[in-house]
Amino acid sequence: MDYAYDDQNIFARILRGEIPNDTVFENDHALAFRDIRPQAPVHVLVIPKGAYVSLDHFARDASAAELAGFMAAVAAVCAMEGVEAGFRAICNTREHGHQEVPHFHMHILGGKPTGPMLAV
Ligand code: AMP
Repeated sequence: MDYAYDDQNIFARILRGEIPNDTVFENDHALAFRDIRPQAPVHVLVIPKGAYVSLDHFARDASAAELAGFMAAVAAVCAMEGVEAGFRAICNTREHGHQEVPHFHMHILGGKPTGPMLAV
């Protein structure tokens, strides 16, 4: 699989500071910020700082430190955002997964029941 990365994608531009974002949490390897079009009371995107296009790319090629940093950011967001009642984590991937931004991101959605898993 060739994971060609487009460094002009909007999340790459956010990471370079070219576009503002509503940061929730940041560490050496990940950034978490609020989705610009929230679909639940809590809607945070967690992204790695490295150039990874998708979950499978990140899972294959990220270092142990990057993997740990990303998961630490997920844990921090969940602790900070009051999702004790539960949440949904989504990683849309490529065409069949309806991915719009080609930089790996995990949506954390919560603050209300999020409905059945898929509506196709
Ligand atoms: P996906 O379909 O998983 O690629 O979703 C991309 C998400 O990025 C969508 O939920 C958008 O609302 C969100 N998004 C796009 N541009 C921005 C931005 N500048 N700041 C925050 N979220 C954004």
